[in-house]
Amino acid sequence: MNVLVMGAGQLARMMALAGAPLNLKVSAYDVNSAKVQHPVTGEVYPLTLEQAVAAADVVTSEFEHIPYPVQDVCQASGKFLPDSRAIKAGGDRRQEKALLDAAGVANAGYRIVATEAEFYAAIDALGLPLVLKSALAGYDGKGQWRLKTNQDAAASWADIESFMAGADHALPQAIVAEQFVRFDREVSLVGARNANGDTVVYPLTENHHVNGVLSVSVAVETSAALQQQAKQMFDAVANELNYVGVLALEFFQVGDQLLVNEIAPRVHNSGHWTQQGADTCQFENHLRAVCGLPLGSTALVRPTVMVNILGTDSVDPAVLNLPSCHLHWYGKSKRAGRKMGHINICGSDNRELAARFQALAALLPAADFAEVQAMADLLQQRFG
Ligand code: AMP
Repeated sequence: MNVLVMGAGQLARMMALAGAPLNLKVSAYDVNSAKVQHPVTGEVYPLTLEQAVAAADVVTSEFEHIPYPVQDVCQASGKFLPDSRAIKAGGDRRQEKALLDAAGVANAGYRIVATEAEFYAAIDALGLPLVLKSALAGYDGKGQWRLKTNQDAAASWADIESFMAGADHALPQAIVAEQFVRFDREVSLVGARNANGDTVVYPLTENHHVNGVLSVSVAVETSAALQQQAKQMFDAVANELNYVGVLALEFFQVGDQLLVNEIAPRVHNSGHWTQQGADTCQFENHLRAVCGLPLGSTALVRPTVMVNILGTDSVDPAVLNLPSCHLHWYGKSKRAGRKMGHINICGSDNRELAARFQALAALLPAADFAEVQAMADLLQQRFG
């Protein structure tokens, strides 16, 4: 089968690598250059978007910020999985919040803000502190503000107003004002739903962010009750969208309660550990779901930590000396903070994983891997 992916980044690349053994041919449409290309070699095919969509058996996506006219072409083909409603919900926080409410899943209290009056009404209704998030084009902590005190409100509104005025969007921009959640930790659930409505989910993954960007994910067995709560929320959202493919839900955990922070209608960075730690990786399961093939087991086969490689294109090759340590480069040119690759390290149990993560952290310079040593120490305290 021919699968066309909207977006030509590392997620499309890893889909192509996972699809090859199943004879699934993956090509990618780069929405910036409007070129259709091979997601691994970069070879460009002389095809327009319309021609590539016509030639594909399935059209899918690796990110949610796809221009609406491009989505319209995909949606009109009847081959777009997950479909445009899911992609738009992932790319616009207004639609995302409406979806979460329609699905009846807990999320942080919020107001949509487009005017100064609405801004002050949101402060009155929700209280402080607030997290203010741009409805469009916000990801990895970009387009976000924190408002802690009433004294800062006027300056905060001035900032937001100039951000909205400068935004280059075909759609009207707005802000989602959200109550600040004092969470204990951040976790995510990655799972897949097929066209029959069957769902499978991976174990909850614990995520550590640095400056709003994912740095480390830890996949170990979690409490059955928490896993069940997350699965129930996953099913509610996926069923509401009649979703087909891999979907990720990011949560705040407060005590033993989960609140959905955001959804990603695609394979997700917090699911990269599945390449070495799960029976079937998220990339293969996404392709299986959208191609109408049976879903693969999502069982955790060994506890795994994933470390993102951000803004650097080299790591000490000695990391490959560590047992069960795997390096994945994305073949991208270096830019500050850019996701360049990741490392998965596994153990046969949590204790071994913690020891191996310590050994890995010792090889990763703090200048490029901020806080990774601290996270390894945390895991050592928990499992060592
Ligand atoms: P997001 O882009 O929505 O994932 O936000 C980036 C990061 O900001 C999250 O991973 C959280 O660490 C933090 N954050 C976002 N929303 C809230 C909130 N309502 N309360 C507390 N922290 C938040």
